[in-house]
Amino acid sequence: MSRPIINILSNANFESKKTASTLHKELSNNGFEPFNGFNKNAKLTICIGGDGSFIKAVHKNDFPEMPFVGINTGHLGFYQEIKPDEIEKFVLDYKNENYKINDIKLIRSDIYTKNKTYKMYSINEVVLKAAHSKTIHMNVFIDRNHVEKFSGDGILVCTPSGSTAYNMSSGGAIIYPSIHVLQMTPISPVSSSAYRSLTKSVVVPGSHTISLVIEKRYKDSNLLLVDGSEYFFNNLHRVNVRLSNKVIKKLSFSNNSYWDNLKDKFL
Ligand code: NAD
Repeated sequence: MSRPIINILSNANFESKKTASTLHKELSNNGFEPFNGFNKNAKLTICIGGDGSFIKAVHKNDFPEMPFVGINTGHLGFYQEIKPDEIEKFVLDYKNENYKINDIKLIRSDIYTKNKTYKMYSINEVVLKAAHSKTIHMNVFIDRNHVEKFSGDGILVCTPSGSTAYNMSSGGAIIYPSIHVLQMTPISPVSSSAYRSLTKSVVVPGSHTISLVIEKRYKDSNLLLVDGSEYFFNNLHRVNVRLSNKVIKKLSFSNNSYWDNLKDKFL
C-alpha cells in the first residue's frame, strides 16, 4: 500500500525551515510520504510560519478541500495551532486520528464592474476603501434593505474566524468561529451633522447578503482588501458579500486552543 502523502509548506524563515526538516523526518519515520510543496493528492497540508503563511497557502492553492494544520514559528497564531516542540506528539496524534476537523467559514465577494463580475473568497475579511486614503461614500444594503449611507475610511466585513484580526483592531466584536454569521464593521466612520454613519458593528445571519454600493466618483479609485491583499477595479459599482458554502477544513488537537490563543495573544 502506498504511503499517504503529506504536504509541507514552509515560509523562508530559518526557524520554519528547521521545523520543516524535523517534520519531514518525523513523518517519514511514521509511515507518511512528506512532500515539500503542494501535491493535490495529499491527505493533509501542513503550513509552517505565522497566520500570514496559512492565509497565503490557502489563497495560493485556491481554497482546496483537503484539511490543513499549522505549525507556528511566528508570533502566536490563530490558524497555526502546533508549536515546533510538539511535532513528535502531533505526528502521533495525527497517525492515531486523535483530532477533530473544524470548518473555517469563508466569505464570498461578488464584485460587479460595468462589464464584468468577479468572485473572490476570504478567510478573514474583505474591506472596501477609497484609493489614496480618501474618505469613501457608499450605500449599504443588507438583504436589499437600505441601511445607511456610509462615509469614512471604509467598511470591513469579516468571517467569525477573521473577527480577531483587522476587525478587532477596528473595534469589532469577537465572534466564536462556529457561529454562522457575518460581521460588518465601520473603519473610522464619519458621524457629523453632514454625514451620519453607523459607528458600531452589525452582525447578521450568514444567509444575508451585505451590498456595498459606492458613489460614482470612486468607480475608478477604490481599493478592495481581501485578507490583506490589495485589488483595484475599474468601473466598480457594487460588492456583494455573503458567507460561502465553501469552507476550509482545519485539524484541531485541543479543545481549548481558541481560548488559550485569545488569552495569550490579547490579554
Ligand atoms: P501579517 O502576517 O502581518 O498579519 C497581521 C497580523 O494579523 C498578525 O499578527 C497575524 O497573526 C494577525 N492575524 C491574521 N489573521 C488573524 C486572525 N484570524 N485572528 C487573529 N489575528 C490574526 O499580515 P498578512 O499576512 O498580510 O495578514 C493579513 C491579515 O492582516 C488581514 O487579513 C488582516 O486581518 C490583518 N490586518 C490587520 C490590520 C490591523 O489590525 N490594523 C491591518 C491590516 C491587516
